[in-house]
Amino acid sequence: MHGFTDTPQEYPPLRPAEARRDDFKEIYQEYANSVAEIQANRCSQCGIPFCQVHCPLENNIPDWLRLLAEDRLEEAYAVSSATNTFPEICGRICPQDKLCEGNCVVNKDFNAITIGAIEKHITDTAWEKGWVKPFPPKKELKQSVGIIGAGPAGLAAAEQLRRRGYQVHVYDRHDRAGGLMMYGIPNFKLDKAIVTRRNEQFSQSGIKFHLGCEVGRDIQLDALRAKHDAVLVATGVYHARELNIPGVGMEGITPALPYLIAHNKRGLGDAPNQADWDVEGQHVVVIGGGDTAMDCVRTSIRAKAKSVTCLYRRDRENMPGSMREVARAEEEGVQFRWLAAPKALDGNGNITRVMAKQMRLGPADASGRRAPEPVADGDFDLPADRVILALGFEPEDVALPGVERHSTGRIRIAKDFSTSLPDVFAAGDIVRGASLVVWAIRDGRDAALAMDRYLQLQAREVAA
Ligand SMILES: Cc1cc2nc3c(=O)[nH]c(=O)nc-3n(C[C@H](O)[C@H](O)[C@H](O)COP(=O)(O)OP(=O)(O)OC[C@H]3O[C@@H](n4cnc5c(N)ncnc54)[C@H](O)[C@@H]3O)c2cc1C
Repeated sequence: MHGFTDTPQEYPPLRPAEARRDDFKEIYQEYANSVAEIQANRCSQCGIPFCQVHCPLENNIPDWLRLLAEDRLEEAYAVSSATNTFPEICGRICPQDKLCEGNCVVNKDFNAITIGAIEKHITDTAWEKGWVKPFPPKKELKQSVGIIGAGPAGLAAAEQLRRRGYQVHVYDRHDRAGGLMMYGIPNFKLDKAIVTRRNEQFSQSGIKFHLGCEVGRDIQLDALRAKHDAVLVATGVYHARELNIPGVGMEGITPALPYLIAHNKRGLGDAPNQADWDVEGQHVVVIGGGDTAMDCVRTSIRAKAKSVTCLYRRDRENMPGSMREVARAEEEGVQFRWLAAPKALDGNGNITRVMAKQMRLGPADASGRRAPEPVADGDFDLPADRVILALGFEPEDVALPGVERHSTGRIRIAKDFSTSLPDVFAAGDIVRGASLVVWAIRDGRDAALAMDRYLQLQAREVAA
């Protein structure tokens, strides 16, 4: 180990931006195993592994790097998958620059170990070699759980509970499982075949999916409580924040998620409504600065928009999205207008321009972030045939009678993930607010542990 002193950091080859603009394929190519081993060997095996400390799953990163460096790939996979339900997905879409790699000790002087790319390499290889298998439990239990929401939180809990032998039923209103991993995050970051093969592994392990089933509409919470011994709510956050400026009701103004869902459905071979995805030849303006905005601008480039501009009211350093995503978007031809906010949307029923104002950063507000404020005489216009709003998400008002919520709409839980109903638990974005896949996995796994304790207690009480 300690190769960082003489081996430079090397990510897997990135496809050229000109080629990336033309398709929705993933942008990174594969590591050769020999290169992955050499890169893993750069790890310093430091005394306090800050990569692990800053990983929401507390992945044992130094150990699986060492095992790979020693050419013990199958063991590396076993260690990596012990704490993570979807290591190949985290390897692709975690903001490593803010988590493990951003905190890598070596990063200070030598550039971080390429942890995400190595994690992806280990798990993709495990799939190729047939080491990832269905996991039917050793002993079937009679008790059953109902999980509402097939996103990473719901699926991580489903996997953990099924391994313990419970009868696991997952309900989701979409026609495919995966939540935002399937329908939010674009294919060029996460190929849908990667999500699909996990869903198949879960089905083969005995997890029952009830898709196209919306709780609150097709089935009520009370019915699920009567059918199952415990229920987990993992419904995510889907209510798009609105923009309150003149002109927002016009044609050509699209919320981010329906736009991304339509593109993902097209990639999967479905035929969504053309108006929901077609921006060919259009001037597209995306408003927002988070990961969703980055996904929209990069999707619009691939959908052959004439120009794509991202309008964000703070500066580059203060945007919530990952810097890597910004760099990739710039390479692909996205224009960024930093410190710029929309003032009004203009057109004749159809949007034709965004009227914007230049901003600067003033003193910090209550959240601790410097608040943007308008600059005098800083108005400007941008041509726009399509405006995509990516301003963040809040919880929807899903009918869950008896489940208490915070004023924000997020579900209130106790330390053991239970809600105000003792047999109903909650996890993921619906508890935490819009967050990350890796946090949803962590919450789902922790909630499963708590549900297991609750179910064991119930079983003992019935037996007594
Ligand atoms: C566009 C976009 C890009 C993102 N990119 C990244 C990224 O690159 N990296 C990253 O780490 N995170 C990213 N995130 C955040 C990440 O996707 C979420 O934090 C994560 O998916 C939350 O997991 P979850 O299981 O709580 O909810 P979700 O993934 O939202 O899953 C919730 C599921 O519940 C279902 N559901 C909701 N209501 C009902 C109901 N009433 N009945 C039945 N089913 C219901 C939904 O259909 C959905 O399948 C992104 C988010 C968005 C919107």
